[in-house]
Amino acid sequence: MDHSPATPGRTRLDSYVDRYATRTAGMTASEIRALFSVASRPEVVSLAGGMPNISGLPLDVVGGAVGELVAEHGATALQYGSGQGVPELREQICEVMALEGITAHPDDVVVTVGSQQAVDLVTRIFCDPGDVVICEAPSYVGALGVFKSFECDVVHAEMDADGLRPDALRAAIASVQASGRRIKFLYTIPNFHNPAGVTMSAERRPEILAICREAGVLVLEDNPYGLLGFDEPPMRALRADEAEGVIYLGSFSKTFAPGFRVGWALAPHAVREKLVLAQESATLCPPSFSQMAVSSYLRGHDWQGQVKSFREMYRERRDAMVDALEDLMPPGCSWNVPAGGFYVWLTVPPGIDTKAMLPRAVTARVAYVPGTAFFADGFGTTAMRLSFCYPTPERIREGVRRLAGVLEEEMEL
Ligand code: PMP
Repeated sequence: MDHSPATPGRTRLDSYVDRYATRTAGMTASEIRALFSVASRPEVVSLAGGMPNISGLPLDVVGGAVGELVAEHGATALQYGSGQGVPELREQICEVMALEGITAHPDDVVVTVGSQQAVDLVTRIFCDPGDVVICEAPSYVGALGVFKSFECDVVHAEMDADGLRPDALRAAIASVQASGRRIKFLYTIPNFHNPAGVTMSAERRPEILAICREAGVLVLEDNPYGLLGFDEPPMRALRADEAEGVIYLGSFSKTFAPGFRVGWALAPHAVREKLVLAQESATLCPPSFSQMAVSSYLRGHDWQGQVKSFREMYRERRDAMVDALEDLMPPGCSWNVPAGGFYVWLTVPPGIDTKAMLPRAVTARVAYVPGTAFFADGFGTTAMRLSFCYPTPERIREGVRRLAGVLEEEMEL
């Protein structure tokens, strides 16, 4: 063991620092992770985390199904399984995706350990260091972490109220191509965006697909919130209209429970084969037990009724947050009204740095995620993500009241 002093500028606490692979330097704790310990103190209203609120799940039903699974199919459920995932579940996944207009064959579905692992596997099979991934501005912090750990360059493209802007996407593609770098894919969250809360409009979807098709850029469509729209039926997926150029990612984390860690990728045939090989190398196989438990829940329970009651709960919380923002936020702040999902994106007046302000907010017993967490390039200082999924409507209002107080003080400084 080398206990010599660490290289200046590197942590002195980690004596292994000189032995890590170069890419490991890109793995740093996300700002959200660092927040978890403070935000979980009971006196703090956390508008920070994006944990689904599963308190409405019928635990007795789930418990019964799990018990039955062990009693009746334990020998299979507790055994290794296929690297691609349990066949019956892959069929059910195709039925779930049909709700978004997707026609797919179960052979082209690969089950993953949450959709997070699907982001990892796709990046693993496509990206060399220095390859470019185009992401919306802002983008999901967990995906940015994956891209960074594979030493990809992230290039952001602006959104507006209708999601990713076609002109911004065109400009991003042109500037990367002019610099001689390779674009591997566009990573997009079309529905109820994490963190921006916006949804790509139906009119815009064909244009985004056409731009990518013409430029030879694959689309990675990440859609964990697609069934959590508050008012409209589910939007038609990008994958529904483009089978060869889109890899679609889905998850049961928000429609059922994240603890099972079951997500999936739907990919063109050849890509699917590589994904299975990558999955086998990473885990041998996704967990049989979780997959069979999810499958039995989908088969034996009114899961769509449950999703409907999740939607109603989240809608009530969205309303509580938007009403509180309207009533309490100081002038100069703006926000969007999301049509589904978990998140509101709040922009504060120029001059306020939401990351620098966070310790003062935590002292005032409210937490949020600073906007910079969702950019690879340091932008986002005057924004923050507010989650309405977890706290009760009363706590949400109290959290917004505390946050408004901190912002008012900040504006007077
Ligand atoms: N993508 C997005 C946009 C997310 O918000 C999340 C979870 N917060 C994930 C992927 C990962 O979800 P899971 O691995 O639980 O399916």
